[in-house]
Amino acid sequence: MRQKIVAGNWKMNKSFLEAEELLDQIAEEQDSYEGDVQVIVCPPALYLELASDYAEEYPLFVGAQNVSQFVKGAYTGEISAAMLASMDGVTHCIVGHSERRKYFGETDKIIAEKIKILLSFEITPIYCCGETLEQRKKGVHLETVSDQIEEALFHLSNEEIENIVIAYEPVWAIGTGENAMPEQAQEMHDYIRRLLLDKYGNEEANNISILYGGSVNPENAKNIFAMPDVDGGLIGGASLNAADFLAIRDAF
Ligand code: PEP
Repeated sequence: MRQKIVAGNWKMNKSFLEAEELLDQIAEEQDSYEGDVQVIVCPPALYLELASDYAEEYPLFVGAQNVSQFVKGAYTGEISAAMLASMDGVTHCIVGHSERRKYFGETDKIIAEKIKILLSFEITPIYCCGETLEQRKKGVHLETVSDQIEEALFHLSNEEIENIVIAYEPVWAIGTGENAMPEQAQEMHDYIRRLLLDKYGNEEANNISILYGGSVNPENAKNIFAMPDVDGGLIGGASLNAADFLAIRDAF
């Protein structure tokens, strides 16, 4: 059975006190939650320790938003996978987000290195892929995502790929208020699962959670999550408000 997941990507938002307030609200609701959706919060790196403290007490997982592709050493400003792993509560890390590709020049080759290092520290990568509006308009969205997945993931063994979460995030839907139609998400998720099946076989393909990301909110989540190959969501803007974020959790 694939794990249902709702992960909140806070991006570069919230002061320390605001982060604490949001974690308080999410933790309080999670405390009495009896459903089967795994809830992950991905705050800015400065607040990972704070979030980890909550994860010790409440049913909550913590993810980083980024990791260095280097193991250690003279890389000013970077945070290594070993450092993330040394904070007990950090179980996940987003990699390949389109904002990191766009503003920080991340390529799938770099992302592949990050994934390898994360796995060696038993941190689950949440690998983001997705096409731009231009690529969708040209009708090359499927091959764009296929190239991304091949380059970033297909160096992994069968054992390793089982520890990956994939997030399909069409770039044109991120932070724009324009979500993909549920059928568009389903088409891509089904396509990704078939790529995984061809490369790794049925068991692996069916066990990997594929999340949708791009302007998910409490209103549209239900229809998107109803698609058979959508196993959850990577949520940006709506994860900054506890009520909205948890309403999305409850849309399953
Ligand atoms: C994201 O940044 O991963 C994202 C999906 O953002 P939003 O939900 O705001 O579109």
